[in-house]
Amino acid sequence: MEALLETCLFPECPKKRDSRGLCHAHYGVARVLVKRGTCSWESLEAAGKSLPISKGGSRPGKSQRWFMGEAFPEIDAPIDGPF
Ligand SMILES: [Zn+2]
Repeated sequence: MEALLETCLFPECPKKRDSRGLCHAHYGVARVLVKRGTCSWESLEAAGKSLPISKGGSRPGKSQRWFMGEAFPEIDAPIDGPF
């Protein structure tokens, strides 16, 4: 179905998407450029060279979302109840 869409956005890169629509290697390259200020995720997204972090690629798991500030009552709640 959408198998082709699950590969890296880099031209002719057959690798599986890891993050932001890019494979691990290409995401690493983009991240370095963003960190340097050479480009931004926004400009890459506008150019179709990356995807917003919430779309495509692997979705953040529960523990990743927790680190990103999402609250999970079942995690924060005391395990043994209010005794
Ligand atoms: Zn790639």
